[in-house]
Amino acid sequence: MLEQAQRILKDVFGYDAFRGNQAAIIERVARGDDALVLMPTGGGKSLCYQVPALLREGLAVVVSPLIALMEDQVATLDELGVPAVALNSTLSADEQQEIAERIRLGEIKLLYLAPERLVQPRMLAFLQRLPIALFAIDEAHCVSQWGHDFRPEYLQLGQLAELFPQVPRIALTATADKRTREEIVQRLHLENAERFLSSFDRPNIFYRIVAKDQPRKQLLGFLAERRGDAGIVYCMSRKKVEETAAFLSEQGFPALPYHAGLSNELRALHQKRFLNEEGLIMVATIAFGMGIDKPNVRFVAHLDLPKSLEAYYQETGRAGRDGLPADAWMAYGLQDVIFLKQMLSSSEGDERHKRIEQHKLDAMLALCEETRCRRQALLAYFDEELAKPCGHCDNCVDGVQTWDATEAARQALSTIYRSGQRYGVGHLVDILLGRDNDKVRGLGHQHLSVFGVGKARGEGEWRTLFRQLVARGLADVDLDGYGGLRLNQSCRALLRGEVSLELRRDLNKSQTPRPTASA
Ligand code: ADP
Ligand code: ZN
Repeated sequence: MLEQAQRILKDVFGYDAFRGNQAAIIERVARGDDALVLMPTGGGKSLCYQVPALLREGLAVVVSPLIALMEDQVATLDELGVPAVALNSTLSADEQQEIAERIRLGEIKLLYLAPERLVQPRMLAFLQRLPIALFAIDEAHCVSQWGHDFRPEYLQLGQLAELFPQVPRIALTATADKRTREEIVQRLHLENAERFLSSFDRPNIFYRIVAKDQPRKQLLGFLAERRGDAGIVYCMSRKKVEETAAFLSEQGFPALPYHAGLSNELRALHQKRFLNEEGLIMVATIAFGMGIDKPNVRFVAHLDLPKSLEAYYQETGRAGRDGLPADAWMAYGLQDVIFLKQMLSSSEGDERHKRIEQHKLDAMLALCEETRCRRQALLAYFDEELAKPCGHCDNCVDGVQTWDATEAARQALSTIYRSGQRYGVGHLVDILLGRDNDKVRGLGHQHLSVFGVGKARGEGEWRTLFRQLVARGLADVDLDGYGGLRLNQSCRALLRGEVSLELRRDLNKSQTPRPTASA
């Protein structure tokens, strides 16, 4: 069997060897048994069902939620001479009839379709009359309510187990923590599936997260050693994408913008140039990247914080696909936290959904403030244990200084409280530093007991501390757009002196004092 698989790999797909778990997965599914496959993006999931599809009798049915990806795959298979079709709603009744006929005649090896289509009674009845090679359920995490893209129609895929007891099923995903994994098994009735968990580690990527201070200058500093390299710079907004691309071009770094506001033609052009030319920088919103397979992306830089570790992992994972050294670099600051929290609170969706999103953002923030190895923390989030610190991230290489911030945090929290729980960090820092400026005087805040109690520390240190308090959920940000800080339940223990607080020091800040109104 394995020999045959190897031959198909070579003759049909043109590859010499299987990667990672591919061979074992293919063998299992080709034998007729179920499998649950967890493999990072770019790991090579498609072959895990495409090869068994060719090894087994009958039609392989592939369920995928993304029409664009289905069509991509069908086009690729087409070029390789593998008869595959995608059924979607854009087809006319006649076209659908014709496809059905070809399937009946056994001319098609792989059928791609969306879950809601598969579970239509007519479709199921149609399939039950055919020899079926296997069911592949791609993006299987969509069945999980805990996951970030739950799709109710996936729940109905559970009935395949009963309707097709003889047909092997393979569920695949790139994002599944333990909890999501269990949910996939339970809801898709994959109790008998062997689990194939690949490592998510990308050892050739160096991770660095710096405190955002002067982001453009910091980005230039990062890029200075990477002249001529291809890379992606992610920004949150279209406007910032445009501005950053223009700025980089001015600075002699060839850069192109990419975001959903550009015309299709321009986007396609920029994407094509990025893929084909050497040393271009793509400045993009997250709209860029799905299905991008450029092996020699040397760096991924984030000027804004992604909203989850899943997103961070996916985006940084586009660097170094060729296995050569690559960098994931991010600048992160309080504004990021405020912005994402605001987005979250104003987003539609029920409370449960928001709680999950909040939880994911907290995990992202925790990585930013992490004092131990970044890679260990990142992998731990995906329930993978890395035995030793990696030696290949900023924390491992530079070391992290921590300090006992208990007293300073209490002063900061008291300042929030005594000034009325409505002011932003700038003003709070002015109070702590005893700056007798117009705003302070106008509000009479020079009379507060906390006025000037923080003179022993610099402005940068206080700003960092406030960011860390918010990141850790010890203070809340007003979401009205002004960024005022408030206390919450979780800071009580700290204020009462029941717990202490250990925080990381920002090392990489070029600390530029803000001009003050007072002399
Ligand atoms: P995933 O779905 O896990 O993100 P894909 O199936 O799209 O990954 O595969 C990613 C890339 O790796 C594709 O270009 C694919 O052709 C390539 N690939 C997969 N398996 C192998 C292999 N055994 N040898 C060489 N290239 C492979
Ligand atoms: Zn490390």
